[in-house]
Amino acid sequence: MNASQVPESVRYCIIGAGIHGLSTAWHLARELKARGSGDGSDILVVEKSHAGSGPSGIACGVVRNNYFQPAMRELMAHSVQVWESDPEAFEYHPVGYLQISYDEMRADVAMIAEQQAAIGYESVFVEGEQETFNYMKGIFDDWRCTGVTSVLHEKKGGYAHNMATVNGLLAKAQAEGVNVVTDTLVTELAINGGAVSHVVTNRGLIQVDHVVAAAGPWVPKLWEMLDLPETTKIVLEGEIFEFPTWEFWALQEGTLDVDPGYLMNNEGNMPPVVHVDADVPLYDEDNNLLVDGKWGVYYKPDFNFGGVQGGYMPYPVKRPWRDVAIDPYGPASPDFVVGTDFRQVWAAALSHCQERFEGKASLMSHAPSGGIGAFTPDNFPVFDTFRENVYVVADSNHGFKMIGVGALVAKELVGETQALLEPFRYSRYAEGRLHPVSNSPYPWS
Ligand SMILES: Cc1cc2nc3c(=O)[nH]c(=O)nc-3n(C[C@H](O)[C@H](O)[C@H](O)COP(=O)(O)OP(=O)(O)OC[C@H]3O[C@@H](n4cnc5c(N)ncnc54)[C@H](O)[C@@H]3O)c2cc1C
Repeated sequence: MNASQVPESVRYCIIGAGIHGLSTAWHLARELKARGSGDGSDILVVEKSHAGSGPSGIACGVVRNNYFQPAMRELMAHSVQVWESDPEAFEYHPVGYLQISYDEMRADVAMIAEQQAAIGYESVFVEGEQETFNYMKGIFDDWRCTGVTSVLHEKKGGYAHNMATVNGLLAKAQAEGVNVVTDTLVTELAINGGAVSHVVTNRGLIQVDHVVAAAGPWVPKLWEMLDLPETTKIVLEGEIFEFPTWEFWALQEGTLDVDPGYLMNNEGNMPPVVHVDADVPLYDEDNNLLVDGKWGVYYKPDFNFGGVQGGYMPYPVKRPWRDVAIDPYGPASPDFVVGTDFRQVWAAALSHCQERFEGKASLMSHAPSGGIGAFTPDNFPVFDTFRENVYVVADSNHGFKMIGVGALVAKELVGETQALLEPFRYSRYAEGRLHPVSNSPYPWS
């Protein structure tokens, strides 16, 4: 079968060849085989463009555990095991991760460190302005960041090369016999007797037993095809609030065009990913005030395309989701690529943190970068079944690092409910079982 042919029927139809669709396909094929109840030939992945054409193919690729929400941390710890299962195939660099924070976040991060210890996730927590400075100097001798009073050093995690990971998952799924058809757009989900009976594509109709909707930022479109609610009621401290079910945020990432070796640590080795949330004013090289409040950046070497790569805080796209142009996606979007503001602030933040970046703002890459993500009402994932046989994987843009979610979803598809996924059911909104909210400047920490 070539990329333009679709079968007339299949047991499992997975929509989307991003990190979640491919990880689910690979793991589901193995689950079916292990149970003697099928194999990869029971699975079809339908992709409207090509594997990795959504955010999975452009993500900075940072893998961290640092989340204020215990359920997120447990999920990330599980995913790190999947990253570690084949670092070569995923081009995963387990260099660790540094969360360097301002004082208002200190108690939150201290609690994260305690709970990481409780789940056996190795990390070091350092408190105090001078102590933080000394610890960071031990890693980078040009460290000079002010406005921070703690550092959490996760010894696991790090980053992976986005397209290598996607291609690694694709190869693993195909090796299990999964059929991946590209250039095939799902246009409708036909519901009969409460469940989806057919997936309608621009290349034909497919009769299905189960559907997995793993469509990344396009998930609101599948949600609409399933005729699910446009707004969601949330119970908060006994009161009911109604929010749009989907909202888009723009993720701002870019690259400083220096040699990636520019960011080595004092020993000349690859350093951990650096994430800094500071609360001092940020100035550019000409002493112009850029940010008068909290700001947050992250950065790491980019050994694939060269340079130092990272991002700044996202901003909400203040429009109803239907008015947002999702296509063309990512760097091809005329609306959602980063601009001068991002370049100025990010370069200034790097220089605020490390002397080696002083005077380097002019080296910011002008190649288009950035993309949008579909966020849920509380900015945390929804992993749940709707219309009896449709499993929705909506990661609320947390998800490149969540390579293991597909393994858990695969188990749920064969009937084994997963405790790690329970906190992410849609019913949590109506039941008021929300995740705790942190003091981070990011909507997702
Ligand atoms: C700029 C940026 C940087 C990021 N950096 C990080 C990071 O460092 N670490 C991290 O953990 N996360 C990061 N993320 C988030 C992460 O990339 C996403 O959460 C994750 O990749 C989503 O994976 P997915 O499989 O759900 O979706 P996708 O990667 O979007 O895959 C879904 C696929 O579905 C296809 N599709 C959609 N609709 C249809 C349809 N109707 N018919 C057929 N096919 C369809 C799409 O073409 C797409 O290929 C970043 C996101 C962005 C935008």
